[in-house]
Amino acid sequence: MTEEQATLFDIAIVGLGPVGSGAAVQLARTGLSVVCFDRDTEVYLLPRAVNMDGEIIRGFQRIGLGEELNSLMQGPRPNEWVGFVKSDQSPIFGRETKPGKGVNGWQSQSFFDQPEVDGWLRGQCIRESLITTLTGWEVTGVVDNGDQVEVQATDLETDDHQCFQARYVIACDGASSQIRRGLGIEWQSLGYDQDWLVIDITLKPGNTLGLRTAQVCDPDRLATYVCTKDPYRRWEFRLNPGETAEEMMAEERVHSLLDPWTPRGTYDIRRTAVYTFHAATAASWRQGRILLAGDSAHQTPPFLGQGMNTGMRDILNLAWKLPLVIAGKADDRLLDSYQAERDAHARDLVDWAVSIGRLMEYFAEVEQAENVGGTPPEPMDQSSGYGQGRSMPPLRNGAILDQSALERKTGYLFAQPDVKTSEYVVTQLDELLGSGFAIVCRDQLPAFSTASKNILKKLDVRILSTGDLTLAEGQWDKSLHQQGLVIVRPDRYVFASGELDQADELVALLAQHLYLTWGETS
Ligand SMILES: Cc1cc2nc3c(=O)[nH]c(=O)nc-3n(C[C@H](O)[C@H](O)[C@H](O)COP(=O)(O)OP(=O)(O)OC[C@H]3O[C@@H](n4cnc5c(N)ncnc54)[C@H](O)[C@@H]3O)c2cc1C
Repeated sequence: MTEEQATLFDIAIVGLGPVGSGAAVQLARTGLSVVCFDRDTEVYLLPRAVNMDGEIIRGFQRIGLGEELNSLMQGPRPNEWVGFVKSDQSPIFGRETKPGKGVNGWQSQSFFDQPEVDGWLRGQCIRESLITTLTGWEVTGVVDNGDQVEVQATDLETDDHQCFQARYVIACDGASSQIRRGLGIEWQSLGYDQDWLVIDITLKPGNTLGLRTAQVCDPDRLATYVCTKDPYRRWEFRLNPGETAEEMMAEERVHSLLDPWTPRGTYDIRRTAVYTFHAATAASWRQGRILLAGDSAHQTPPFLGQGMNTGMRDILNLAWKLPLVIAGKADDRLLDSYQAERDAHARDLVDWAVSIGRLMEYFAEVEQAENVGGTPPEPMDQSSGYGQGRSMPPLRNGAILDQSALERKTGYLFAQPDVKTSEYVVTQLDELLGSGFAIVCRDQLPAFSTASKNILKKLDVRILSTGDLTLAEGQWDKSLHQQGLVIVRPDRYVFASGELDQADELVALLAQHLYLTWGETS
């Protein structure tokens, strides 16, 4: 028996795409031992994600990797624009992308190159002493034995079969997840299945393609153009009925699709792929000790750039819940809040992405009707269009206190401004919150009861008054203005807010929602 086989790992992760490697690094940084597998020895090179949200960089800031991840990002460039356009590329609506920091303390959206970030994440796994990284290994089965899970895996080079033991398994094995299928978990379709060609190019010096991201509502062919990280650019073209992947990826065809955009000779074709864009979430995200995360739990058309971001939110959620459960501080029921929180949130975003696809179809029909003097389609709600009103959903269920009756918001991301701790020292607020739970007070700190103190100690809660801090850039969180105290989760979502004299009550409710295992929390 090898050393790995004899070990009981805290976590086994199947799949080292961005979500699996991100999960491994996040969990190892909390002190858990992780074994992770990927059948491929190299990261996936075909064109996929280009947009990362500030929330995700903030999630890596929590484990000291924010700056390093951010160095792989391209933030908004001057005069960059995002919107919907007609077939002649004239705008229907849109807005300039805002440079500077967003509510999460990093630029709200950045462009990146997925293979570069995937490679960086895998590199982090290999460097981390608590992670055993097995690439070139395929997981062939997982068996939940009640108190631990057996992972069966094969070294594809030597055909050596081995079994590994872990307390929990996270299946990050992508959209066609063998683990999800093996567990009999079905997709719940949200009604979008279309074939699209994706083309990435590398700009040559002197190419003057515009700095815009445009949903092209062309009645002859819907398309998307994205001014991704320099020196790359991206198009997505919907396949029309009867067109095949093979003919669409032929070099001459690719050039002819790009001719209206940029002259031949001013770019190199970097990579092409045809994907069927699906919209679906898994019917169940957890079965016993096995959890699904990333594309194995949800699939979205890419119009909102949220597939990987959603997967990263999954792991930022698990990255504080699993350590609490494994340490015996919280009951295993805390893990049920994973699906309660993540499924509704993911569905909102998938639904939003589908609405963008439908809105493109609508504007294409409007243009078609104008061209032929036909009847325009019924007007459609346009709030899903970029900058047209729809915003990121909050968490609505799970380990979140429902304060809607008090007209207080919870389940949203606590604002992270830059603050001055002294005349010369500016820092991001999260740096003062630590990596766990935090209670942030506007002025005074509350006088906690002994029961509360025990809970706070158990959770290692950092308590901070903003009274001694000055704002350097950004805004204080709204709840902090309105109430004296906010409880912030490790993933920076707001659990609850209240007045100082409600501190004990809110801490007891926190313990309840986390299923803490001590008697005095009841
Ligand atoms: C055209 C396009 C554009 C996109 N744009 C964006 C965007 O802008 N922003 C965004 O957030 N997302 C975007 N996405 C989505 C994003 O690329 C995916 O959501 C993300 O890659 C999913 O990551 P994952 O780790 O869950 O799965 P994957 O990256 O698919 O990784 C799964 C891994 O599991 C491994 N594996 C599978 N089965 C086994 C097994 N049995 N044993 C061992 N290993 C196994 C595979 O080898 C693979 O490495 C886009 C996708 C497409 C197609």
